[in-house]
Amino acid sequence: MDLCVRADRVISVSEPGAIERGAVLVRGGRIVAVGRAADLAPPEGTPVLDLGALTLVPGLIDGHAHLMLDGSAEPMRTLEAESDSQLLLRMVRNLGVLLRAGVTTVRDCGCRNHLSLVLRDAISSGLLVGPNVVSAGKALTITGGHYGFVGHECDGADALRQAIRAEAKAGVDFIKVMGSGGRSKPGTAGLRRSAYFTDEEMALIVRESHRIGKRVAVHAHPTAVVRTCAGAGVDIVEHCLWLDESAGYCFDERAVERIAEQGAFVCPTLAGFFPRHPAARGIDPEMPKIEELLPYFARMRELGVRFVSGNDTGAPYTPFDDLVYGLEIMGRFGLSPAEQLAAATLTAAACLGRDDVGALAAGRRADLVAVRGNPLDDIRALWQVEVVVKDGHVVHRRDPLAATAPAV
Ligand SMILES: [Zn+2]
Repeated sequence: MDLCVRADRVISVSEPGAIERGAVLVRGGRIVAVGRAADLAPPEGTPVLDLGALTLVPGLIDGHAHLMLDGSAEPMRTLEAESDSQLLLRMVRNLGVLLRAGVTTVRDCGCRNHLSLVLRDAISSGLLVGPNVVSAGKALTITGGHYGFVGHECDGADALRQAIRAEAKAGVDFIKVMGSGGRSKPGTAGLRRSAYFTDEEMALIVRESHRIGKRVAVHAHPTAVVRTCAGAGVDIVEHCLWLDESAGYCFDERAVERIAEQGAFVCPTLAGFFPRHPAARGIDPEMPKIEELLPYFARMRELGVRFVSGNDTGAPYTPFDDLVYGLEIMGRFGLSPAEQLAAATLTAAACLGRDDVGALAAGRRADLVAVRGNPLDDIRALWQVEVVVKDGHVVHRRDPLAATAPAV
């Protein structure tokens, strides 16, 4: 055995509740067994990492990030000023920030020139230490549309087919589609309240992507796009801001029912739209109001939608060490602490199509995070990351001299 990790509380997430005085046995970077420390005596000579009063949870998953952005007031400005070499180094730094915050897997939702794939492969081959990267590569959009300057500008069926095949050839993990406008650089087609693609085009995207084994994730601010996603069988609906075509909001219960029936996932990224930074408030008059959106998300939960963590990390005022803030917002629309934790672990792993992460269970990767407090009582315990283990190796211990995380 390579390692035995013990802690006063072990939350596997795959089983309800917690194991008091638990242990995790690790061999070859994978979990071999999880149980009570008294029942799991490792072979003699096995190194033991005894975490005492801490709680052990699975490595967290950031379900919607942009590694190429920097979370500043104007990430696009930073991006445009950099060469690919400079950008790659900054992305490495972003991955380090994620890892120290307990994120051991990240879903990248659109990147320039497939640089996220370079990092994914560097990490999976052991060249670099960092979170597992699951990446979309270059997003599909319309000519002049959101992310067009780093994506594929596609008009019509042939262009869509060609872009999907180009992405598959590049080796992406899933296909990202910009279904409407969003917060992008000036000069791109706003259309934040209407759809870029027709129902037929979206159906084609899903059909062609599924045919080559790729899931489809769609950026959807307006209700029109959420409806199109529900009709086409999109796997992951991002944002879901319920923007009506003209003004205000328009909630579509039938679309939500279809999304839930199909077992699709919704990644609300509300933290990215309601950043905590005071300077971020009021900068975008088009920004929806969180108080108005929360009841819609509460209803979506009642209808059985599976929510996935993710803040649109890297977007304006959305830093790489803030995943827990998004989980806190999920609590505001009714998720229990266990559901909040699942959104950042087991549910997110299912959304990514990964059965090797997201839980402390035999056969999964030994990606573990030790925190202070009990996240099943209060999810804010996840702010207090003390130790991060990736593939069975301790990759981070909190510096006792570092500024303390927000108090629980
Ligand atoms: Zn995004």
